[in-house]
Amino acid sequence: MREILRSLGIEDVNAGGFGGAWTGSGKAQTVVSPINGEALATVTNVTPAEFDGILARSHEAFQTWKLVPAPKRGEVVKALGDELRRNKAALAELVTLEMGKTLREGLGEVQEMIDICDFAVGLSRQLYGLTMPSERRQHRLQEQWHPLGVVGIITAFNFPVAVWSWNTAIALVCGDTVLWKPSSKTPLTAIACTKLAEKVLREFGYDPAICSLAIGRGSDIGDLINTDPRVALVSYTGSIPGGRHVGGLVQQRFGRHILELGGNGAVIVSEKGNLDIALRSIYFGAIGTAGQRCTSTRRVIVHRSIHDTFLARLAELYDRTPIGDPRGDEHLMGPLVDPGAVDTLLAAMATVQAEGGRLVCGGERLPLPGGCYVTPALASVPGNLPIVQEETFAPILYVMPYDTLEEAIALQNGVTQGLSSAIITDDQRESELFLSAAGSDCGIANVNTGTSGAEIGGAFGGEKETGGGRESGSDAWKAYMRRQTSAINFSGRVELAQGITLEL
Ligand code: NAD
Repeated sequence: MREILRSLGIEDVNAGGFGGAWTGSGKAQTVVSPINGEALATVTNVTPAEFDGILARSHEAFQTWKLVPAPKRGEVVKALGDELRRNKAALAELVTLEMGKTLREGLGEVQEMIDICDFAVGLSRQLYGLTMPSERRQHRLQEQWHPLGVVGIITAFNFPVAVWSWNTAIALVCGDTVLWKPSSKTPLTAIACTKLAEKVLREFGYDPAICSLAIGRGSDIGDLINTDPRVALVSYTGSIPGGRHVGGLVQQRFGRHILELGGNGAVIVSEKGNLDIALRSIYFGAIGTAGQRCTSTRRVIVHRSIHDTFLARLAELYDRTPIGDPRGDEHLMGPLVDPGAVDTLLAAMATVQAEGGRLVCGGERLPLPGGCYVTPALASVPGNLPIVQEETFAPILYVMPYDTLEEAIALQNGVTQGLSSAIITDDQRESELFLSAAGSDCGIANVNTGTSGAEIGGAFGGEKETGGGRESGSDAWKAYMRRQTSAINFSGRVELAQGITLEL
């Protein structure tokens, strides 16, 4: 373990702030692994005064970074991707140690970082603006995209490194600088990533404050990011109540935000679908990352004619879930992030039974070191009970029956969140209805594959209380730039738009 930490520059005690130089004289916290309760290292938070200095440096770095040609910025992101390739195994192990997801998922998360770097390198030559015909003779209209400023990146514990990279790789090629406030549950991975970025920026001779870091509590450092006009864009990933708070504060100062909030993923299983595909997709979607993904499958809406057999097959899979040390290849599920998450799961199970649901299997605390292990829970429910409408960030899956596809879609859409959804069917009329305007109301709607495991090439995000933000691929980069529209007159005369005349 020490070797992995050292190879990524993690010492016994680490400063939690970086703005060209490492600082952090605030409260110290010891990071404990959920795998076994072992202390990993200590991190000292930044004070508000140190935060101010870091932000000032990030803002200063933007003034020169924005002038570097975008393809040259892309070269830096290419080198960052190469650095991640070299450190993939160690960084994945650190992700696993710090937040408890299985090593194979940790490796997948780092691969996602590499993929978004590759995507961003290509993007650095494709930050296209449009040209439009002008209604005036010998005039031209055009749009250009310019760098925006400092991007404040606030991240959740469950994807401790990928979300930073989605934002950072895109922001860097767009000419922005980034200031990262990670979850206090996962500060070590944030320090490791920032050190990799620092190394690359120094090698190129650029200001290392282009990738800054401020570790501290959401209620102090987070709120400083939310309220400071030097932060042009706040990209916030976290819970719905958190997003409501952040969005409100950023909006009050007319700052921009990207909100990536909670989900309540559902899979519709049609009687015309392949049940093996359904089982595998739902099982991975529900127990992957121990049910701690925003895109986790939390609800299964299954046709009444196959409901009982499907539930029984799912229960059989659940019962033999290999649970234990997530570093071992033999385990599909590791611990939850902390003992508090176990309590949340147990409370939700009591509530679902009180509301009329039936516990089918699982939901037990396991007596393993660290106190964060549970068996995944499966519950049978008649519909979207109040507890089903909440995002319980733990491995609990609710299964409910439907009779018509219209009813299934109404159940799927009948929650306040709108992130990820899927249908398992071989009937094209069903899948097309699901994807149509009368279908899923989510940002992600999949066919014959589960709700989680999004690829970086598409824009990622969701509707309703999921916040409406989009990041990662497609044209999500536009949120990281400011658009400038220009009318250019090469006629040698003055002609006003809309036919307005000016007699002088
Ligand atoms: P959380 O809301 O507890 O914390 C998220 C981040 O917000 C942390 O860095 C936290 O320190 C910070 N924060 C807290 N108070 C703040 C404030 N006043 N101002 C600014 N920042 C503040 O979430 P979590 O438990 O770390 O993560 C789980 C949640 O995140 C779930 O709801 C999950 O669905 C969601 N999530 C969403 C996505 C997505 O892309 N939609 C991805 C991952 C996680």
